Amino acid sequence: RQAAFRTDLSVLLDQVGGGKESLSFMKRRIRRLAPQWATAANRLGAKLGQRWRDQKKILIHVGFLTEESGDVFSPKVLKGGPLGEMVQWADILTALHVLGHNLKISMSVKELQGFLGVPPGRGSCPLTGPLPFDLIYTDYHGLQQMKQHMGLSLKKHKCHIRVIDTFGTEPAYNHEEYATLHGYRTNWGYWNLNARQYMTMFPHTPDNSFMGFVSEELNETEKRSIQQNKVNNMAVVYGKEASMWKQGKDSFLEILHKYMEVHGTVYYETQRPPEVPAFVKNHGLLPQHELQQLLRKAKLFIGFGFPYEGPAPLEAIANGCIFLQPKFQPPHSSLNHEFFRGKPTSREVFSQHPYAEEYIGRPYVMTVDYNNSLEFDSAVKEIMRTKVEPYLPYEYTCEGMLERVHAYIQNQDFCVPEPPFIPANFSRLGSASGSRVIRPLFVPLPNSTALGWASNVTAPAAWPPLSSLRLLVSQEGQSCVEACQSAGFICEPAHFRFVNNKEALLEVQCEVVDSEINHILPAFSVMRRECSLQREPLLFSCAGHSPKYRRLCPCRDFLRGQVALCRDCL
Ligand code: UDP
Repeated sequence: RQAAFRTDLSVLLDQVGGGKESLSFMKRRIRRLAPQWATAANRLGAKLGQRWRDQKKILIHVGFLTEESGDVFSPKVLKGGPLGEMVQWADILTALHVLGHNLKISMSVKELQGFLGVPPGRGSCPLTGPLPFDLIYTDYHGLQQMKQHMGLSLKKHKCHIRVIDTFGTEPAYNHEEYATLHGYRTNWGYWNLNARQYMTMFPHTPDNSFMGFVSEELNETEKRSIQQNKVNNMAVVYGKEASMWKQGKDSFLEILHKYMEVHGTVYYETQRPPEVPAFVKNHGLLPQHELQQLLRKAKLFIGFGFPYEGPAPLEAIANGCIFLQPKFQPPHSSLNHEFFRGKPTSREVFSQHPYAEEYIGRPYVMTVDYNNSLEFDSAVKEIMRTKVEPYLPYEYTCEGMLERVHAYIQNQDFCVPEPPFIPANFSRLGSASGSRVIRPLFVPLPNSTALGWASNVTAPAAWPPLSSLRLLVSQEGQSCVEACQSAGFICEPAHFRFVNNKEALLEVQCEVVDSEINHILPAFSVMRRECSLQREPLLFSCAGHSPKYRRLCPCRDFLRGQVALCRDCL
């Protein structure tokens, strides 16, 4: 069946149900943003024209909100606990509904069992028949519950699963045997999925897919009125929980207070939290729309280093604030910071909000060393002088999210085994089933070798399409994430299978070519003139790096403001 855009959200609101504070938060958000989603649906509809879109049967099982996982979030919704996940799930539900798919929503193990048609009760009763869904969106908690209640059949059906995973999962942590043997085992990873089945909150781990969420968009009248009503010396602090204000914040808060009136939205029960200095005007935790109103007046939104990578800075920038945040030197990661410990990633985080720093940047975002009071002082002064317009990257608008999720749903298929890449010399040119000739481009990278193929090659239709592929060789010790980025591209894990062959390594002139199971491959060692190909496709990894190896990197182009998609991706 063909999917038709929906602009009426009442059916979705009924499906979400009620009772818990977390669900009420999500429903308030869905209602508040409904007009924006409707406009976005109409726009994307016009953009896509008459294109066929398959209507999918989709199960959404929100594991972290189930009683069975302890549901630690719901009681914290009104107390300053993490809301980012709730924001994202509300937006995922809305996007899938608006795109016109057929949804079933589960927030308990009982509902999960009902939808899957497995007998209720404990223990692992495998699902015997076919899976009644094309796609299942869940999270790590939900995955665990499905394992418990679907038993062995989970393995058979896992290509249909998408895991919403805020901070991302790198391939080395996802491959059970490899993770166990090489010290990448954590509480979360080792599901042996294709790493692109994990979907993140920000586009920080190109090995995963970028799901995202949305932020409020303003029309021209609102933008103008915001600019007229900005209070140049008003700052709002990013941190709704008192613990985020603990320790060592006094010195730069004092500096800030020299120039600006400082506002906070810190949760409190009866008394002012002692961590919050007396000069701070604390509003208490605000409902989302009231926070937006506060941000519309403020000039500066200031981060204290925690929480990492949340939605609030995007909302602040969308409401015309400048976001000031601390630089992390050395960077935070699962190796040195409690928060990231045990998360299935080695990603290094160089500031509180790397997306804001790298994708938005000045004048909207200033990333400074908070220990350097001179640098901090001059940043605050600069912010007071600087005029900015409200800004929201396209990928965080409703239309941008719909476009991206549409593209994933119609094009990503992890159930059909990906055929190995065959260089032209060994294959029939222009053979059946949509094969086509491609010619990857040479891309020169400073201090690194650019490669291309000597001959044309054929490959079955791929997504992202092969026209987007740019082949690069990293420097020693550099990951493909960095190598692609420094050439203005993004690493594309789906393209690894096209560069994991002798042809691609032709120009490197290796004396030996072997194949191994290692997440930095394909790569070559300069010293030993040795090239190694990857033997385990699940370990193709943009993130991997090793001091003695130069990696072969499949990069691709991307759309400005929509990094998940390439020029020919739609
Ligand atoms: N938020 C809110 N009231 C407040 C402060 C924040 O509703 O007083 C909302 C905010 O609009 C954002 C969400 O909380 O969408 C998550 O914010 P944050 O960036 O702090 O991420 P978290 O750590 O909660 O995931």
